[in-house]
Amino acid sequence: MSRSTTHTFTCPCGQVFNGQAYEYVNVADDAHLRYVVLAGLINVSTCPNCGRRAAISMPFVYSDPAYNLLAYVHPRADAPEDARLLILEKLRDVYMDATKLHEQQDKAGESSGNNGGRVVSLSASEAKDMPPLKVVFGLEQLSELINNELSPEDRLGRLALSTQSRSEAERGQFHDITRKLATEMGCCIEVEDMPDEYTVWLYGSRRQVGALMRELATRG
Ligand SMILES: [Zn+2]
Repeated sequence: MSRSTTHTFTCPCGQVFNGQAYEYVNVADDAHLRYVVLAGLINVSTCPNCGRRAAISMPFVYSDPAYNLLAYVHPRADAPEDARLLILEKLRDVYMDATKLHEQQDKAGESSGNNGGRVVSLSASEAKDMPPLKVVFGLEQLSELINNELSPEDRLGRLALSTQSRSEAERGQFHDITRKLATEMGCCIEVEDMPDEYTVWLYGSRRQVGALMRELATRG
């Protein structure tokens, strides 16, 4: 399971809204999150009133077992060199502790699961299969890491659908239809709500977006 917390923002426009911030992104359970990451929208919330974006700058762990990826993602691409070294050192300790603990559990046979700490949720065999932990700075570096593993068909695809209607009701209806379509096809959406145009971006793998376009073509 991925883990996230809810944050409350006060937008410069005055709107107060909630957004999710992930500390653990597990793509095995939430496949669409790979594309939220690739779209640069992980831990980014959009004000429902004015469309301004607010990013929550916190580190998270990205796990994508299908591609044997495990990464600690520091939010800042411009972290100074000494801060990077410190983070790497700390993480190496945590990772060593985790694998050591599981080796002990292996030797002890059945683990009782009550030895506290943050790593007990992994079984010993899971720990053995743990891919090497990579450390990246900034979402762009993470996207690069993921894209290196993905086939062209599995890379990020996007499609924009828009309406020029200024009616709130019509825009709401447009939003509901596109959201339903996105859910059916396993895609995510992002809304751009401008005075003269209302745009819904759908994104997922190129394969999913291609299927979605074919679906739209048959519906006419
Ligand atoms: Zn706002």
